[in-house]
Amino acid sequence: MISLPALDLTQMVPEEKCARDESIPFGKPMIDAAEIAAVTEILSGTQLVHGPAMRRFESLFAERIGCAHAVAMSSCTAGLHLSLLVNGVGPGDEVMVPAMTHVATAHAVEYCGARPVFVDVERETGNLDPSLVVERVTPAMKAIMPVHYLGLPCDMAALGEIARSNDLFLVEDCALAMDAEFDGRKAGTHGLTGCFSFYPVKHLTTAEGGMVATDDGGIADALRRRRAFGYDKALGERTRPGIYDVAELGYNYRMNEIAAAIGVVQLGKLDGFQAARKRNFHIMKEILAGSGGVQVLGGGRGRAQSSYYCLNVVLPEDARLDRDEVIARLGQRGIGCSIHYPSAVPMFAYYREKYGYRRGQFPVAESLAARSISLPVGPHLTANDARRVANAVGDILNANTSTTGIELAS
Ligand SMILES: *Cc1c(COP(=O)(O)O)cnc(C)c1O
Repeated sequence: MISLPALDLTQMVPEEKCARDESIPFGKPMIDAAEIAAVTEILSGTQLVHGPAMRRFESLFAERIGCAHAVAMSSCTAGLHLSLLVNGVGPGDEVMVPAMTHVATAHAVEYCGARPVFVDVERETGNLDPSLVVERVTPAMKAIMPVHYLGLPCDMAALGEIARSNDLFLVEDCALAMDAEFDGRKAGTHGLTGCFSFYPVKHLTTAEGGMVATDDGGIADALRRRRAFGYDKALGERTRPGIYDVAELGYNYRMNEIAAAIGVVQLGKLDGFQAARKRNFHIMKEILAGSGGVQVLGGGRGRAQSSYYCLNVVLPEDARLDRDEVIARLGQRGIGCSIHYPSAVPMFAYYREKYGYRRGQFPVAESLAARSISLPVGPHLTANDARRVANAVGDILNANTSTTGIELAS
């Protein structure tokens, strides 16, 4: 993830200029005295792991999403890994993964010793295309991992039908899909499990952290055992201190109490965060409509309600400016952006070399990797900041000349 560092302009320029040109990073954790007080309370106590803050965060999260069980993890990646593992994915198995996602989705399959089968995505949304998915199901396939690209839910009705008729299960990668909805139900409640991330630039943060949502009590229990070494008894269930048995190979994927306490405070602020994201997105979308022929990804669409993670502009094939040049020019104006993602996953060296993929096999994912820019819409932007970002993009795309000479022929 590329996000330009926030410059401390107060050190360098007079106050008026500072107010006008303050830098806007792509993402910024919204931490204030409430999180600091919650962390202080944990650190002043005696229980730093396995405690009540984690259980409270889990139950508040489950309530928010509308699932029966929420199991906290040290990261979303840990949740993706265990979701596959506890449902029996192992060597010889295959799991379908979109070619355009965070590498964590595919890595989770590799951790299990299984093979990711990459499928190209829809040009309009960056999501799995059900008509391609149905063609790529193999006899060795166990699961499909729909990734709600930039927070727009995949067609979970169509994918659910494909899963049912081929005896596959769905693990939703909801890292960018907090509060997104498909057919009025939250992302993360359509699959067998849904995995969320609390990395600093996601919708809410615990510094590092993740959550797995599921309606299946057996799966929730298995996830709880596997996140803590495979102990057969949780800390509170041991009749004698320190006595437990280990029946399976578990991991250390727990969420600590400090992270969980931050998460509880962040959940309380989430409605405000989400309202700001949606407002900023719509302000920017309106300004950008028709700007240099860009396509805007990331809003709601049909039965899918977005989480408004960012506003992603896809430059036209014949754009006058190269994508990296646009990002550099935004950087000069103090505006940070991100790229989702710098490469189609099969084109990263690890996957390309292991499986022998060639350029051009995933044309839509490869084109999104080369031509899209994710603009900030987070709650750290005021409405004026959102206007400033969109106007800057419009200016840059409509400018005729390049300062560095990197121009694409049109
Ligand atoms: C951020 C992200 C992840 C990884 O989340 P972590 O909590 O950092 O492990 C996985 N998938 C997607 C789509 C992401 O954006």
